[in-house]
Amino acid sequence: MRKKLVVGNWKMHGSRAANAVLLAGLKEAGPWNADVAVCVPFPYIAETALALTGQQVAFGAQDCSAHEQGAYTGEVSSAMLADLGCRYAIVGHSERRAYHHESDQLVADKAKAALAHGVTPIVCVGETLAEREAGRTEEVVKRQLAAVIHTLTHCIGEIVLAYEPVWAIGTGLTATPEQAQAVHQVLRLQLHAATQKSDAMRILYGGSVKPDNAAQLFGQPDIDGGLIGGAALKAADFAAICRAA
Ligand code: PGA
Repeated sequence: MRKKLVVGNWKMHGSRAANAVLLAGLKEAGPWNADVAVCVPFPYIAETALALTGQQVAFGAQDCSAHEQGAYTGEVSSAMLADLGCRYAIVGHSERRAYHHESDQLVADKAKAALAHGVTPIVCVGETLAEREAGRTEEVVKRQLAAVIHTLTHCIGEIVLAYEPVWAIGTGLTATPEQAQAVHQVLRLQLHAATQKSDAMRILYGGSVKPDNAAQLFGQPDIDGGLIGGAALKAADFAAICRAA
């Protein structure tokens, strides 16, 4: 049995004051049966770490550099994230792939850099609406995952994978549990061919997960939790999703 994992992706939201309220709300709402984490904007990691001391909720970042250190203005290394106590770093979110032109290989290199410092990468894959409508969903997600498998080789079993159909992110359109499960199964099989750890690996679903659809999604055999955007910004909603896991 895989323990469910629910991760809040705050994206570029929050302020010191708003974060304090949200984190205090989560403190009140736990404990949960699932593992729970929040991935917060870089400037708030240290304060989040303090606020979550002794709590069940882990924390992480929303990206990391593929580089170790050096003249990379504006980048944040995985060593720095580890230094702050981050458990996770999201890599390859579709917003970064789209707006920052991150390639499959760059995403794989970021995952490798994170693992090298003991930070678990949450690797996101997912197709756009045009790709789905063209019947290319499987091809796209397999290509995205293949780059990570190829780059991490024997360490692939250490990642968390997240399937996030781009058309479902922030749109209110959720993949049906069956649509999501079908892709998760494809990804599980691909992992199975790459590592003996595939059955223990967590594959999260992300894309308009809400308190009222979470239980159905998480009830699918290959859906091991969620990556939550909008609904992670309200303690009550996020807590309800964590309860559903
Ligand atoms: P959403 O975002 O829950 O707001 O759709 C999910 C994500 O982008 O990780």
